[in-house]
Amino acid sequence: MTESDFEGLAALVTGGASGIGAATAALLAARGARVAVLDRDPGGAPKGTIAVKADVTSDEAVRAAVAEAVGELGALHIVINNAGIGAIGTVEDNTDDEWHRVLDVNVLGMVRTARAALPHLRAAATTRPGAVSITNTCSIAATAGLPQRALYSATKGAVLSLTLAMAADHVHEGVRVNCVNPGTADTPWVGRLLDQADDPAAERAALGARQPMGRLVSAEEVAAAIAYLASPAAASVTGTALAVDGGMQGLRLRPP
Ligand code: NAD
Repeated sequence: MTESDFEGLAALVTGGASGIGAATAALLAARGARVAVLDRDPGGAPKGTIAVKADVTSDEAVRAAVAEAVGELGALHIVINNAGIGAIGTVEDNTDDEWHRVLDVNVLGMVRTARAALPHLRAAATTRPGAVSITNTCSIAATAGLPQRALYSATKGAVLSLTLAMAADHVHEGVRVNCVNPGTADTPWVGRLLDQADDPAAERAALGARQPMGRLVSAEEVAAAIAYLASPAAASVTGTALAVDGGMQGLRLRPP
């Protein structure tokens, strides 16, 4: 892996104006990629990236944003499908409207972006084999059985299945499809959740202490994993879910 391993490549990062997406957009740009950020609130897009305002719940807006990004970037080799929102509760807590809203962002948002991007990715694969990919931000919630996360977990379970199915559908077209499964990552999203506690600092410390490594994962650590999956170094990697969770899912630290 070199500092300029993304030289000559163009990337689109959804949800790239905050947290994991912003860290990824900044890292890809630092490693030589031309980067566009698609976000409903693009003010936080990292310096050196092109910000495109769009909401992934609108097919029309996503198509226009992808077209605008490709126009600015000149091509599209890499999509980081990262925009997502949270939901707390059991199946008894969330209404149908809430289910539709979160599925619309977390699952259909990725479908819409991929659908708009694929013709450009296929074209790019003819000249840069191995360097063309989609990386979806999934979550350990897809497989971990987390309490109070029925709706969110179901959306991420769908993202995992979608990743595998898309990897199969597009492998012969030179488009690799993978996902990362972050554990609890220290992003503005988690900050907003902690702010709802009576004592946010104490809650943050307790949350960290509950992790196997005694701390949260950083957005930069997740970005590094996304960058690997999107890099030419991962030319043989498709249909993979890479956990960046401080051991949360794989380790069995409590006695059975
Ligand atoms: P964040 O809230 O810090 O950033 C999310 C970004 O997505 C924001 O810039 C927001 O404006 C954008 N966004 C949200 N809805 C959008 C929409 N409808 N259209 C366009 N843009 C939209 O969150 P984060 O923690 O960086 O999360 C990023 C991804 O990582 C999400 O898919 C999330 O599910 C996943 N994830 C996060 C954690 C965590 O602990 N933070 C853990 C596992 C997975």
